[in-house]
Amino acid sequence: MTPDANVDAAEIAKFEALAYRWWDPNGDFRPLHDMNPVRVDYILSRVDVAGRRVADLGCGGGILSEAMAQAGAEVTAIDMGEAPLAVARLHALEAGIDVDYRQTTPETLAADHAGEFAVVTCLEMLEHVPEPASVVAACAELLEPGGHVFFSTINRNLKAYAMAVLGAEYVMGLLPRGTHDYRKFITPAELARAVRGAGLNTLAIIGMSYNPFNRRCALTNDVDVNYLLHARRPPLP
Ligand code: SAH
Repeated sequence: MTPDANVDAAEIAKFEALAYRWWDPNGDFRPLHDMNPVRVDYILSRVDVAGRRVADLGCGGGILSEAMAQAGAEVTAIDMGEAPLAVARLHALEAGIDVDYRQTTPETLAADHAGEFAVVTCLEMLEHVPEPASVVAACAELLEPGGHVFFSTINRNLKAYAMAVLGAEYVMGLLPRGTHDYRKFITPAELARAVRGAGLNTLAIIGMSYNPFNRRCALTNDVDVNYLLHARRPPLP
């Protein structure tokens, strides 16, 4: 696969169309806003990002990228969507936060910057690409030895379909219809297999519960719907 081949143009178009609402906490990306403090706390509880280089892959409008920069990281954030990146750049400028935003793919960034990052984050992105394993491999390439990577995505089972597609898109109207394609959801076992295949070690898998009524999000042992995976590139011997 060429570095830019692992892109689903229809997926990028969905995010382009919604980009102007990215930072509206009550808009289309409301679940990301509600989940962000929890996922940020989780990442920071497992790795110190201060003064270290972080690559945020599929950054969208930069909700996580900005949080990493505020925690003291030197952040490179990439997306294939032009409009999300424009929104991200403007928001960072207004907020006075320094993030290096670039329009590229994980695979291309990895080809040019192998081994340069202490931490890679790839949240809510794998379920939007044709070949998630190719992105996982790119994450492994981007990491320095001993570096940490965090993924989050949506499990694939009846409950996840009911909650993340029917519930969020059709009943609650939280997300625009068609945001998620059930067939692209990824089980923790599939993600762990891709992680192992890329030469990384899975350190933890943890569920993230989200209640759209009270907008509470919390870490949980239940990985049936949303979950996070923390993996590490083995340190040099
Ligand atoms: N990671 C962010 C945004 C998730 S939305 C967060 O959790 O807050 C998914 C983002 O991935 C969208 O902005 C979309 O444009 C981007 N994306 C999808 N496929 C991509 C690819 N192959 N390369 C780069 N970005 C991609």
